[in-house]
Amino acid sequence: MADSHICPHLEHCPVAEYLNRPSERIYLQIFCEGVYHQCKRYGLRQAGAPVPENLLPYGGYKPEMNPLPQETIG
Ligand code: SF4
Repeated sequence: MADSHICPHLEHCPVAEYLNRPSERIYLQIFCEGVYHQCKRYGLRQAGAPVPENLLPYGGYKPEMNPLPQETIG
């Protein structure tokens, strides 16, 4: 039986891979594996509205061009 706290869109969500990074995983745990009905993406989808490709569950946006954060040394 499926876990009812797992978002039904998780397997195909375009931001799921990004949210699986160590720095972002807390959001995956909170939203995708928890209160997914509070996710901004989920809400827009349920309303039949367009969902921006890079919209994150808390309403921020995934960086488009930098797959990994740049580290400044020195
Ligand atoms: S980001 Fe939102 S729509 Fe995507 S899997 Fe997580 S809870 Fe579901």
